[in-house]
Amino acid sequence: MGCEVDDLADVLQEMPDATIVAGATDVGLWVTKFLRDISPVVFLSHLDELRRLDVLDDVIEIGAGVSYTDSRAAMTDDYPHLGAFWDRIAGWQIRSMGTIGGNVANGSPIGDTPPILIALDATVTLRKGSTRRTVPIADFFIDYGKQDMAKGEFLESISVPRPAKDAIHAAYKISKRRDEDISSVCAAFNVTVVDGMITGARIAFGGMAATPKRAAHAEAALVGAVWSEATLITAAARLGDDFSPLSDWRASSEYRLQVSKNLFRKFWLDQQSDTPANRLSA
Ligand SMILES: Cc1cc2nc3c(=O)[nH]c(=O)nc-3n(C[C@H](O)[C@H](O)[C@H](O)COP(=O)(O)OP(=O)(O)OC[C@H]3O[C@@H](n4cnc5c(N)ncnc54)[C@H](O)[C@@H]3O)c2cc1C
Repeated sequence: MGCEVDDLADVLQEMPDATIVAGATDVGLWVTKFLRDISPVVFLSHLDELRRLDVLDDVIEIGAGVSYTDSRAAMTDDYPHLGAFWDRIAGWQIRSMGTIGGNVANGSPIGDTPPILIALDATVTLRKGSTRRTVPIADFFIDYGKQDMAKGEFLESISVPRPAKDAIHAAYKISKRRDEDISSVCAAFNVTVVDGMITGARIAFGGMAATPKRAAHAEAALVGAVWSEATLITAAARLGDDFSPLSDWRASSEYRLQVSKNLFRKFWLDQQSDTPANRLSA
């Protein structure tokens, strides 16, 4: 008899310190690079229920074990701007094994899907034993290395709202190499424009803080303003109030802040042409 998600929930209740392994594209490095002992290990990849993806009326329901490759069609059908972005995540081998659940649960400030999912107002469903709870993904990332997930709890699924009317989207990844590189900065825009006025804005960044995070001041500068290049530049100027990025070997603090501001202008310019929003992204 095969294993089911109920069995996973039971095992994690019994062994709350076990290391959960999905695609092992992060965890594998803990072993091969850092020689960490990760036992006991609970491997998820054979759990069919976690690999389900359902496109429902209101949401795309993505099981935590769905890979980048297996989620691409559903995500890009609804959000065509994500096509070019998806192809910038790692390389095809990692995209075939790596899961969105692992990218989220890992909680890295430079993971590529969290800013996208925050901008799209996704929620995550967490399960401990038979108890489930759903939290907005924006609240899941508490601090560096600290996610809203208790011992014995696991990520079961991610719900991504279907596209809203009048929303304009873009996603950008800035990295040193085109393929197989981690973001220096990642940005996701979800801006609602009605009759030339901005009525809603969710803009999230990776690589700019200890967690993937919304640009609250920049968003506030957009909402209620005219949809124009000047408005976007004004909003970009508020990024210094939202973020004090670190310098590391990927990028300096100054670079991260400057390139983030530039992406607001690029967002505007991309909307003025009929090219997909991030076709030319770095
Ligand atoms: C060469 C290479 C290139 C990469 N490029 C990128 C890139 O461009 N962008 C990017 O964002 N990442 C990149 N990564 C990192 C990695 O591929 C992703 O973070 C991937 O999504 C992790 O998924 P996984 O299934 O392999 O997770 P795993 O390695 O199996 O697990 C990652 C973490 O999540 C936990 N976890 C997994 N599933 C669950 C669950 N259901 N519930 C609770 N906890 C869970 C694990 O315990 C672990 O802490 C790269 C990695 C490599 C090796």
